[in-house]
Amino acid sequence: MNAPDGSLFGDQIAASRLAKKFFSLDTQKLLRLVIEDLFPGRVALVSSFGADSAVLLHMVSEIDPATPVLFLDTLQLFPETLAYRDRLVGQLRLTNVATLKPDDKLLAAEDPDKFLWARNPDRCCEIRKVLPLAKALQSYDAWITGRKRFQAATRATLPLFEAEGTRLKVNPLAAWTKAEIDAYFEKHGLPRHELVAKNYLSIGCVPCTSPIRPGEDVRAGRWRGRGKTECGVHAMTPDAGADI
Ligand code: SF4
Repeated sequence: MNAPDGSLFGDQIAASRLAKKFFSLDTQKLLRLVIEDLFPGRVALVSSFGADSAVLLHMVSEIDPATPVLFLDTLQLFPETLAYRDRLVGQLRLTNVATLKPDDKLLAAEDPDKFLWARNPDRCCEIRKVLPLAKALQSYDAWITGRKRFQAATRATLPLFEAEGTRLKVNPLAAWTKAEIDAYFEKHGLPRHELVAKNYLSIGCVPCTSPIRPGEDVRAGRWRGRGKTECGVHAMTPDAGADI
């Protein structure tokens, strides 16, 4: 099965068919199918190198360490995230990790004081995440995210495959539980992001991330108290997300 033309799978009906066909497939096998058969050379893993990211990065490294990995450096990240990225890239021997950064001119024009996150967080996410990712994804027909249903009520119905524009989005961990994630870390001896021990269970930019309290959704610490739940990369018009 091959998809040289991304439009073959770029609609919701096709995505639903794929989700139905492969819903019971083991996650590693599903990833191999996506990387080697459905979209060879045309699929990227978009990773935040956050709390759970090591699971998919490890699986992908076992299939092909040269699989493209896209990492969004918003220039507002925790230094611990950058250190974790470097550690995992080395440990998993990933050879094709691209760090995406926001456009300098846009930042100078619209966020010279680095406080756009407080004035207009949607625009801040657009400049620092959505636009750089949309540009990078132009080279791909599909992308893999690390999103999971248990993370938040807003993700409770997350499908295995989604269409977004002309691209397919694959969520291999959609049905995974927190216990399964933890067990995978344990089984494979994967290192944890340093902030996890401080109750940061979903890790984004410094100004918009806080630790979670007992009983809260995993993503409750993102944009706390500001009525925002997603950064926009999973709902953007031109195509552009992840375990971010
Ligand atoms: S998460 Fe906050 S700082 Fe990061 S891009 Fe979005 S609004 Fe800006």
